[in-house]
Formats: sequence, C-alpha cells, structure tokens
Amino acid sequence: MSIKIPCPHCGERPIHEFAYGEVPEVPDEITDIDERDLDRAFMFKNTEGVQLEAWYHIYGCRRWVYVYRDTVRDVIVPKPV
Ligand SMILES: [Zn+2]
Repeated sequence: MSIKIPCPHCGERPIHEFAYGEVPEVPDEITDIDERDLDRAFMFKNTEGVQLEAWYHIYGCRRWVYVYRDTVRDVIVPKPV
C-alpha cells in the first residue's frame, strides 16, 4: 500500500500524484552563492529517520506541499518538536 500525502488544498492524495523534492539544508558557513546553489542541487543527506520533504502536487493543485516523513517506516509524521 502506498502512502498518501496530505495536501492542504486537495486533501489526502496518493503519492503517485506528486513529484518528490528533498529540502536540503545548506550550512551557514558556506557564504559563496555558487557553492550554496551547488549544495542545494546535489548535496542530499539521505536521512534515515524523519526529514522535511517538499512534494509538488503535479496531478492536482500544482502547489508545493511540505511534510515530514519517516524514511525508515515510510510514513508521514507530525512536525517534530
Ligand atoms: Zn493538491
């Protein structure tokens, strides 16, 4: 069974309606704009656990949805406190 993404505009929708995009975190120490862009484009953390993800609802409202997903259990989880 595939997971469902809770879209704030369309409700819970199957994951195959979305395009995935990890939200990379660029360290503040990197100040060069080109280096920051490279980090955003290619330096993924491949987190084992909860991470913030961006999903683009390509077959729906065509808006970005930000959710936290536990990559181990492959489930959407509430924002960690
Ligand atoms: Zn939507």
